[in-house]
Amino acid sequence: MAGAGLATELVNTGPGVWHGDDQLPDVAALRAFLDEHGVAAAPTTGDLTAVRDLRSRLRAVLDLRDAASLADGAADLVAPGLGTVGLVPDERGRPQWSARPRPDAGLADRLALLAGVGVLGALRTLGPERFRDCASDTCSGVFIDTSRPGRRRYCMPDLCGNRANVAAYRARQKAGGN
Ligand SMILES: [Zn+2]
Repeated sequence: MAGAGLATELVNTGPGVWHGDDQLPDVAALRAFLDEHGVAAAPTTGDLTAVRDLRSRLRAVLDLRDAASLADGAADLVAPGLGTVGLVPDERGRPQWSARPRPDAGLADRLALLAGVGVLGALRTLGPERFRDCASDTCSGVFIDTSRPGRRRYCMPDLCGNRANVAAYRARQKAGGN
């Protein structure tokens, strides 16, 4: 599910989502994003260009709403960076599928692998109805709802959710003549 979270957060750094501006304007911003997600890398300007391109391709996948198209789109994301698939014990010692990158995979291909596997895992365990548009009128974000109850409505609950609440409150105040 970490890969699904990374996929959601990467697409929502794009322009038009909540803040309006591109949240990956330079290499320093990309480095901060990678740190936040525990991805060890020293990105270059070439990586930045490749990650922005990945972001567009990932967004096109997360905009899909049927299971077969989502599975195909995620498989295309995974393909360039995929090295081997194996089993690795989780924290309880139970074997779990693990997709490892090719040794020579670049940063964007490694991120595509993480995000693509996250999409496939969420699709398999939760279903295509967990791929949604942000409910905020002023946000063009999308997200994968990996919460247990599955009732998430906003791409960034702390930001878009609060902004929608504030807007609704102001509308009520106006309607009430205050
Ligand atoms: Zn949003």
